[in-house]
Amino acid sequence: MFNATRACELLVGLPAVNILEVDEPLVGRLVVTVESRVEAPDCPGCGQRAWVKDRPVVDLVDLTCFGRPVTLRWRKHRWCCPRRWCRVGSWTHEDPRIAAPRLSVTDRAGRWATVQVGRAGRAVSDVAGELGADWHAINDAVIAYGTALLDADEARVAPVEALGVDEVLFARQGRWRTQAWSTSIVDVASGQLLDVIEGRSAAGLCAWLAAMPTEWRDAICWAVLDLSGPWRLAFDTMLPTAVQVADPFHLTKLANERLDEVRRRVQNETLGHRGRKHDPLYRSRRLLTKADERLDDRGRTKLLGLLDAGDPRGEVRTAWHAKETVRGIYDIDDPDLAAEFVERLGHDLQDQDCPPEVRQLGRTIVRWADQISAWHRARVSNGPTEAINNLIKRVKRVAFGFRRFAHYRIRALLYAGKPALRI
Ligand SMILES: [Zn+2]
Repeated sequence: MFNATRACELLVGLPAVNILEVDEPLVGRLVVTVESRVEAPDCPGCGQRAWVKDRPVVDLVDLTCFGRPVTLRWRKHRWCCPRRWCRVGSWTHEDPRIAAPRLSVTDRAGRWATVQVGRAGRAVSDVAGELGADWHAINDAVIAYGTALLDADEARVAPVEALGVDEVLFARQGRWRTQAWSTSIVDVASGQLLDVIEGRSAAGLCAWLAAMPTEWRDAICWAVLDLSGPWRLAFDTMLPTAVQVADPFHLTKLANERLDEVRRRVQNETLGHRGRKHDPLYRSRRLLTKADERLDDRGRTKLLGLLDAGDPRGEVRTAWHAKETVRGIYDIDDPDLAAEFVERLGHDLQDQDCPPEVRQLGRTIVRWADQISAWHRARVSNGPTEAINNLIKRVKRVAFGFRRFAHYRIRALLYAGKPALRI
């Protein structure tokens, strides 16, 4: 025989509730009114059976049903103690299977929204629109469930052999559009994002590392960094036994930047203006930064011709050679040979005949020689960190920039941190 109550219960799918009413207006939301199936509890103060004080009603955004937005109207029970002298006031019955206290979405809608925003990378406004909910209701739920999820994800503190850090611009704040930075901390062996912290200071990274278990810190063999002082200081302080590795990508990038500076200076000195379309040095800019092995004969002939025309003292050519030699560091297989090569290169580039920009590159290489040649033993790079930062930038674009770091961190970790989303 058809049991209407049971059918209703199946459709609503919530444990231990009575369905009081299903209201279906011609337009707008389906409203399902429920109450918890509960017996009066004992007073926590005196043990006396509590009385119902009143029945407050809360409206919760639920999952859509048959393509329509749904409100779950929960008639709650507020209890009170019947004994006048008992100090216990009143308290409201809660059931986290229906909804977490203080959130205005149901538990299942909150989890669903967290997966949509967190893993699928959808915008909060998009998910809110689908559920017919307020933006804040969904954002609060994503942050609350996301935080709980990340706290419970113990894999994030699993042993790490190679740790990498890198910075990301996460917002521009205030009237002067001040840059706000964050630091991504990544297990570069597995490509797992471990955390995102505010700022890009040594102190911030030190504090994060200090909060990790000692055994976890001790297990780190390699610490990968770009050529930046704060990371070096933090690793020196907190990971004294880990070998620091300078990221190859950043060193090559630095060599290219110096080359670009030389090109622009020589351009200005010889022609008295910034690069224009027909200036030989301006025309050479892409060929110069291209990897030498990717230049064909035609490209190389063209480049040399442009340098002959625009580089009378050979300074750009020197910087170009310097850049290619720096790249050559990573063609060497033997770690000892590489260390010798790096040491010698750093000093050679500081030769008086070199342009000042190249001498500066030489000084940087000498200062970071240990970290640069450590790569040949470690063979780890910040590649995974960069990849994760690109994911984070996607989250940032979807959210049109974040104002609050805490929200940004949760969203970045949900999306790029690949937590086990067991929801
Ligand atoms: Zn009582």
